Amino acid sequence: MARKIGSRYTANQILGRGSAGTVWLGEGPEGPVAVKLLREDLASDQELVGRFVQERTALLGLEHPNVVSVRDLVVDGNDLALVMDLVRGTDLRTRLDRDRRLSPEAAVAIVADIADGLAAAHAAGVVHRDVKPENVLLDMQGPLGPGGSHPALLTDFGVAKLIDSPRRTRATKIIGTPDYLAPEIVEGLPPRAAVDIYALATVLYELLAGFTPFGGGHPGAVLRRHVTESVAPLPGIPDELWQLIVQCLAKAPASRLRASELGARLRELLPLVAGMPPLDVDEPDAEPAEEEAPAAEEAAPAGERVRRRGAVPLVPGAKPADSNRDTHTSMRVPGPDELAGGARGTARVPRAAGAPRPGSARHRAVARRRRVALGAAAVALVAAAGVGTWLATSGDDADATPQDTNNSAPATP
Ligand code: ADP
Repeated sequence: MARKIGSRYTANQILGRGSAGTVWLGEGPEGPVAVKLLREDLASDQELVGRFVQERTALLGLEHPNVVSVRDLVVDGNDLALVMDLVRGTDLRTRLDRDRRLSPEAAVAIVADIADGLAAAHAAGVVHRDVKPENVLLDMQGPLGPGGSHPALLTDFGVAKLIDSPRRTRATKIIGTPDYLAPEIVEGLPPRAAVDIYALATVLYELLAGFTPFGGGHPGAVLRRHVTESVAPLPGIPDELWQLIVQCLAKAPASRLRASELGARLRELLPLVAGMPPLDVDEPDAEPAEEEAPAAEEAAPAGERVRRRGAVPLVPGAKPADSNRDTHTSMRVPGPDELAGGARGTARVPRAAGAPRPGSARHRAVARRRRVALGAAAVALVAAAGVGTWLATSGDDADATPQDTNNSAPATP
């Protein structure tokens, strides 16, 4: 059923549903477009509408072949819509769901594309804040690249920031998706460009391995791993590529590469991974959610008790579009004591394919140790998430100016 969006656009058919709204295939004066219609409760939030208009210039100004451009912002009665370039293809999560993991060549090519898109954004002082496979679109009508990959484009620029209104912002809240959250965000620092590099390196790891480096189990445990654990090696990839991943997953934001460097280095590595088959590694065992966070059982409604990965909606009241996917989390920043508990180290090491699972007695002992360390943090985190509090940082992220010392973004492209 077609509907008018403002005076210039018609939304004809639903392309997909996300946590913030519905994306429609639409028609505008210059041809087909994608129209993201924000959820009604967001559209009726006057403060959000104000920010929406304020952000207009920054959002409309981003033009790059690897960025889904926002063409227009429409505020019309109860409708609040972003009009974007239409990408005919699929998102990277759907591709991962289908293939589990990609060939190193395709993974490197896709991530190099996104790094290039991020470089342009960072140069303009824009931090994405929510880089993840769901926000990467593959343009099936574009030319085939290395490893048979289609051009990749980053979408949802500025959406996290738009929805993250100052009224909801407190220094002790976090916004983001647990698996991809940089440690400095978990520790309460404002998000700078380097958080996008960390998230993108996490995506690269996931494309290669089929799982994220610090994911699995309760969201509180995932956040803690970002801060305290080192990344487990992936057997079978060239050392140069591994070093790049490790550098971009560095705990210290300043140690990570800039987006432009990452893109360039990845392209240099393409010949090295040409023709390599997908890796053959098994996901490390993660404790069941209830072992890591005993309080989760009581806090979660029946039927949703043991979700291996945290799925707390980005916006209050939103249901995750797909419960199998990680979405945004909503919790307070753990205190230093909570984060300090437990030893540093690599707790989740991928097993070589076919290797025996760890003995159950040892597994239980590890789980018990982790449970003790996590207890306090998990109870608090679950309580915060349970009441659906809105996560946000106090960060004035769009002001993540390239000159900022924490910011890896270059001052010029
Ligand atoms: P949200 O960020 O609110 O969760 P998404 O932006 O992920 O929602 O959009 C949901 C789905 O809509 C995506 O998975 C994708 O399939 C589709 N989609 C989003 N943007 C576009 C676009 N520019 N062109 C084509 N399809 C799109």
